[in-house]
Amino acid sequence: MTVIRPGATIGLLGGGQLGRMTGYAARSLGYDVHVLDPDPACPARAIASRVITAPFTDAAAAAELARGVDVVTLEIEQIGVEALAAVSAVVPLHPPASAVVIVQDRLRQRAWLDANGFPLGPWRPVATATDAEAAVATMGRSVLKKPVGGYDGRGQARVGSASEAAGAWTSLGSGPVLAEQFLDLELELSVLVARRENGMMATYAPAINHHDQGVLDWSVWPGEFRGTVASQAKEIAEGIASAMGIVGLIAVEMFLTRDGRLLVNELAPRPHNSYHHSERAASTSQFEQFVRAICGLPLGSVEPLRPGAIANLLGDLWEGGAPAIEAALTVPDVRLHLYGKTSARPGRKMGHLSAVGATLDEAREKVLRARDLFARRASS
Ligand code: ADP
Ligand code: MG
Repeated sequence: MTVIRPGATIGLLGGGQLGRMTGYAARSLGYDVHVLDPDPACPARAIASRVITAPFTDAAAAAELARGVDVVTLEIEQIGVEALAAVSAVVPLHPPASAVVIVQDRLRQRAWLDANGFPLGPWRPVATATDAEAAVATMGRSVLKKPVGGYDGRGQARVGSASEAAGAWTSLGSGPVLAEQFLDLELELSVLVARRENGMMATYAPAINHHDQGVLDWSVWPGEFRGTVASQAKEIAEGIASAMGIVGLIAVEMFLTRDGRLLVNELAPRPHNSYHHSERAASTSQFEQFVRAICGLPLGSVEPLRPGAIANLLGDLWEGGAPAIEAALTVPDVRLHLYGKTSARPGRKMGHLSAVGATLDEAREKVLRARDLFARRASS
């Protein structure tokens, strides 16, 4: 196994907030960081000694990134296949291109999860308006998801009945889509697995995640669950990490349905929004763990130190003027994380608040209270 020691340089495909926070951790461990991103003002510019500005489909630019670094990883799945191959030809790419290619297309991801025996809710591929109607007629209330490029609930349409199916399919661009039965959820959870090249894994306890309109709103950790839910979730996530040959991190989003089924929702082979509390609540943050895993260093402890929570700050909070940042910071123990994004569009993740507490409820109450204060205008 190749060990990439501090002093070396890590290349990041993608310079969003996950790249930025990975970069902070990499720098703390003594690594240098280079980034490739289409946006020269990307959040990770703050931690990168070199930023290559190019689209994620640019194989020549990806090769250029690779030539200047010792290992390459990614913080976004939507990297062109040729770019992934160009990197792999020069330096180790963690996670491997084979895993990224499976994850980056929802239909391929579903088919892989199904073929490998992981539990899924009812779903089917849809290619035409007639398929869409048939899918909803069979499954009932459903959600249609574009296979590529959707995130934070975008590129999805919820469909109540078969008569709405053709219209929803057209609204998504009349191409292939994934149709899923809309499930009655008790809660949503995620499990983060770190895995090294030698197969060693460290798996964080599951987080409980609350979404609002398809976007993560808040998350608490370590989640408290009935019976064997946590151990089953861990087993599923580790099975996926091993079967995909992940080196680095993989976050497995799951659903617990009201009738007690634990099902896989989707995969992310990188750090994840639902583990930002690991910076406060766990022995090792997800970002440090990510760097350790891709560099072949011993993995850190994933023990919870205390209950933690995060609440996302979306661009909507900037509409109509500057938010009341100072007011939010008066809540004891709350920390503010802003990603350095230059424009605040509605729905865009601009930052998050984190807190720890004696209980999950207390930690969550702090971040939600801070966000309520943040939502007031700076002048009021
Ligand atoms: P994204 O890439 O946008 O996170 P997801 O597939 O995770 O896409 O969907 C976003 C959210 O929408 C989920 O976290 C969940 O709250 C809701 N959702 C998605 N699929 C379903 C489903 N089949 N049944 C019920 N809720 C769903
Ligand atoms: Mg999701």
